[in-house]
Amino acid sequence: MTDDFTDRIQRVEPSATLAISNLAAEKEAEGADIVDLSVGEPDFDTPENIVEAGTEALEAGHTGYTSSNGVPELKVAIAEKLRGDGIEAEADEVIVTPGAKQALYETVQTLVEDGDEVVLLDPAWVSYEAMVKLAGGDLQRVDLAPHDFQLEPALDALEDAVSDDTELLIVNSPSNPTGAVYSDAALEGVRDLAVDHDVTVVADEIYERITYGVEPTSLATLEGMADRTVTINGFSKAFSMTGWRLGYLHATEAFVSQAGKLHSHSVSCATNFVQRAGIEALANTDEAVVEMRDAFRDRRDLLVDLLADHGVDVAVPDGAFYMMLPVDEDDQAWCEAAIEQAHVACVPGSAFNAPGYARISYAASEQRLREAIERLADNDLL
Ligand code: PLP
Repeated sequence: MTDDFTDRIQRVEPSATLAISNLAAEKEAEGADIVDLSVGEPDFDTPENIVEAGTEALEAGHTGYTSSNGVPELKVAIAEKLRGDGIEAEADEVIVTPGAKQALYETVQTLVEDGDEVVLLDPAWVSYEAMVKLAGGDLQRVDLAPHDFQLEPALDALEDAVSDDTELLIVNSPSNPTGAVYSDAALEGVRDLAVDHDVTVVADEIYERITYGVEPTSLATLEGMADRTVTINGFSKAFSMTGWRLGYLHATEAFVSQAGKLHSHSVSCATNFVQRAGIEALANTDEAVVEMRDAFRDRRDLLVDLLADHGVDVAVPDGAFYMMLPVDEDDQAWCEAAIEQAHVACVPGSAFNAPGYARISYAASEQRLREAIERLADNDLL
C-alpha cells in the first residue's frame, strides 16, 4: 500500500545537526563554555559590500514580490557565473530560491515519484534522505567511508547501485560532511552510468568556492551531462550569507518550467532586496571569498596536525569546512560524552549514515579548535 505525505513526514527524523546545536545551546544556558563544532555555517561576517548592497536595495524600496523565478538581473548574473565555470547556461534556465535547500527540495519533489529509486553517496548530507523520503522515493546507498570518502575507488559499488530503475543520483562535491572533492575520473564514472541508465544527476556544488588546491569540476560541463544535470548552488557558504537565504538551481528549460510551478505555489520568490545583494556578491566579492577560504585551509591544516599529535589520522579534506573524525563505534554516545564531559559539540556520523565517525565543522577560530582538541584529549576521547 502506498503511504501519503502525512505518514512520510511522521517518519522523517528532525535534523541531527540542529539537535546537537540545541543541546549545545542548552549547556551554554547552564553556564558551560561549549566549543561548538557542530554548525555548518562560516563564522565570518557577510562581506561589507554585500551588506551595503542589501541595505541600499531595502532603502530603495525593493521590498515587493519579484518575478517568481528571480530578479532578471540576478538570473543573468548567475547564468554568466555558470558559463564562467563551463556550463552552457541561460537566464531562463535558472530558478532563484530562498537557499540551496529549497532548490534541492523543489528538484526532488519535481523528479521523484512514489517508489522511484534515488542513489545517495554516503556519508550524505542529512536533508537528502529526508527530501527523498518526503517525495516517496526509495534510497540506494553507496558507502564511501571505506575509501577515505572518495568516489573514484567506489565506482564499482556505484555501478552496482545504479540501474534502469534509478531516477536520480545526488552528488555533493565538495561534500558535507566529509570535505571530499571528487576527482574528474570519478565524475566521468558518474556521467557514464547516468548516460547508460538515463539517470538525472543532482550536482550540489554549494561548497564549490571553498577548496584547497584543487579545482572542482562541475558535472554539467561533462559531455552528455548538460541535459541531465540539475546544478544546485547558493550564497550561504561562499559569501557567508546563511541567514539571508539565497540559492538557485540551473537545469533545462523544460525542467525549470515544471519546478517553477512548485516554486511559485510554495515560496512565490526569494526575498527581493536579498536577490539584489546577490548581484553584488557575484560581481565584487572575490577577495573576501579567497580570504575566507585561506582561513579555512589554515584551520584544516592545524586540525590535521593537532589530531596527528594525538595519534589520530583523518582523511584530509580538500574542500568545505568539515572533517570526519574516527571515533567509537557508538558515535552517538561519543558525541554525548564529548559535549557532557569535554564541552565540545560535534555531530554523530550516523546522522550522515556513517557510524563510527563524528563530523567536525572547523568554522571556529584556531584558538577554539586548539581548545577543543585539548579538551577531547584530556577526557580520553581521542
Ligand atoms: N547542500 C549542502 C550539502 C549543505 O551542506 C547545505 C547547508 O548546510 C545546503 C545544501 C543548503 O544551503 P542553503 O543555506 O543555501 O539552503
